[in-house]
Amino acid sequence: MTAGQPAEPPPARRGLMLVLSSPSGAGKSTLTRRLNEEEQSLGRAFHLSVSVTTRARRPSEIDHRDYHFITRPRFESMRERGELLEWAEVHGNFYGTPREPVEQALARGQDVLFDIDWQGTLQLYESMRADVVSVFVLPPSIAELKARLERRAEDAPDIIARRLANSAVELRHWAEYDYVIINRDVADAFDSLKAILNAERVRRQRQPGLEAFVAGLLAELGAERQT
Ligand code: 5GP
Repeated sequence: MTAGQPAEPPPARRGLMLVLSSPSGAGKSTLTRRLNEEEQSLGRAFHLSVSVTTRARRPSEIDHRDYHFITRPRFESMRERGELLEWAEVHGNFYGTPREPVEQALARGQDVLFDIDWQGTLQLYESMRADVVSVFVLPPSIAELKARLERRAEDAPDIIARRLANSAVELRHWAEYDYVIINRDVADAFDSLKAILNAERVRRQRQPGLEAFVAGLLAELGAERQT
């Protein structure tokens, strides 16, 4: 950097991993979808991680958009070959995050959004804690959680009952997360989520080129003083 020339903007930072967890029906999928849509429409460097699952597809879901729906043997072979960044059994089905798309997105400086459960979150903490920003979404009440599960009306009553019963397991892990949002109103919850993402993007430790950038600014100031 020559004194007198404007400071170069800092190089692109490594992407962060925004992890969202909640009991089934707390509104996490709506938040995930909205954030992804907004980030894409703003042309931001953002990647939604699409998990593999052995669960049956719901009528409203699209293969490769909501999940990659795969068979149990395929899941096992991916897991054995180390192709999953994390994986878990949830409500009797297997879910996992394909490793390669995430690593590529992070290396390109894209932020990656994950909709995964507490077991997956703990696995990401083990391998990549500094990159993970975790958010737990709480329902405003159990009555509302139940109403949302029933309103979705895509699962059979026994599946809904099982998900509700499993909520206690997920709920008990809230304190392992960096941020907690109580989803009383989806617009407010969405604003909180965006605020978290925006603040985490400018965290000092995530901006590798700051030292050189500020050195450039100081060099410019030095040049100013000489003229
Ligand atoms: P659902 O069947 O309602 O789509 O998802 C059930 C649960 O599995 C949700 O809590 C969701 O966050 C979690 N889940 C979805 N994909 C993954 C994944 O790749 N890994 C882990 N650990 N959990 C996942």
